[in-house]
Amino acid sequence: MVNNGTNLLGLDRGAMEGFFAGLGEKSYRAGQVLKWLHQSGAEDFAAMTNLAKPLRAKLQDVASIESPVVVREQQSADGTRKWLLRLTGGHSIETVFIPEIDRGTLCVSSQVGCALDCSFCATGKQGFDRNLSPAEIIGQVWVAARALGQVPKGPRTITNVVLMGMGEPLLNFTNVVTAMQLLMDDFAYGLSRWRITLSTAGLAPGIDRLKDACPVSLAVSLHAPNDALRDELVPINKRYPIDDLLAACHRYADATGSRITFEYVMLAGINDSPACASELTRRLRGIPAKVNLIPFNPVSSVVYRRSPQAAIDTFRERLLDAGILAITRKTRGEDIEAACGQLVGEFIPRAARHRLRAAPMPGGG
Ligand code: SAH
Repeated sequence: MVNNGTNLLGLDRGAMEGFFAGLGEKSYRAGQVLKWLHQSGAEDFAAMTNLAKPLRAKLQDVASIESPVVVREQQSADGTRKWLLRLTGGHSIETVFIPEIDRGTLCVSSQVGCALDCSFCATGKQGFDRNLSPAEIIGQVWVAARALGQVPKGPRTITNVVLMGMGEPLLNFTNVVTAMQLLMDDFAYGLSRWRITLSTAGLAPGIDRLKDACPVSLAVSLHAPNDALRDELVPINKRYPIDDLLAACHRYADATGSRITFEYVMLAGINDSPACASELTRRLRGIPAKVNLIPFNPVSSVVYRRSPQAAIDTFRERLLDAGILAITRKTRGEDIEAACGQLVGEFIPRAARHRLRAAPMPGGG
């Protein structure tokens, strides 16, 4: 690993071709180098044996390969793995791998911290620090693919990637799209766009932009069937209320021909009543939707509790009765704090961010 010049890890095919054109090289070099970086596990230019020696020497001078550094790796009793990664500048982020029988999902972060301050989420409690670069986003896949033995020569272990780690991906739009282009590039990770899911807290204009730029699978963190309750749980709702958000979802589904996944965290006594379920079915009418019910995962300094299983089951049945596909997400990696909403990196929160949340809203359903 060298530390000078352009970090090639963050370049997608177009940028890589531009980079080689700038060196007076043919554009096919871009594909060769992408393969070395993302499939063959090269960590330095000397290993790239199909490049002429003078070109390798030139790359040493003008380019680098810099990935996030693994500080700690943990493995859950259920096989979930979590990496704490250190970034240049000292921040750290978390990345989680969730193995299942028929697939392996890597959950990737897009920002250090998050500005949206959803009332039940650990990442939000940190506040926002900065966007991740394309190299830092794809670098999480690069690190995990090695740790899991997929790179250099193992079977494909990472079959799906979800942007559901720390941060709001649509607030780091350009860098996230670059990383997703690499995920889809056959010279890099070769995933179909349906195996990539971007999860957003509901930035309606960003959803429209994504539809045109990179129409991957979309998940929307809805969490409430009406604006009064959603304003409390997901404060960005005050800017983009449910009607605007669902209209954007409708356009996304129409344009991509795909179903939208709505995430709904189950908070006892807040949003888990049968009345909330009925209201939700009315809101989602006409949208090709799937609902993922997420049992709340405990977060320190948050006073919510997980809904009892019976409440989750009743809620789910209401949705199914109305013809809406609904599943309860299995909680994974809880013992290593790798579950939804528990990712925090190792960030020292500012004193002001220590404040305890007010008691949950009454009358949430
Ligand atoms: N900012 C994006 C990406 C984060 S995805 C978004 O909001 O969609 C993480 C998912 O886990 C979101 O649906 C989020 O609302 C949910 N989540 C956050 N905190 C949680 C918690 N404590 N328990 C269960 N799910 C949580």
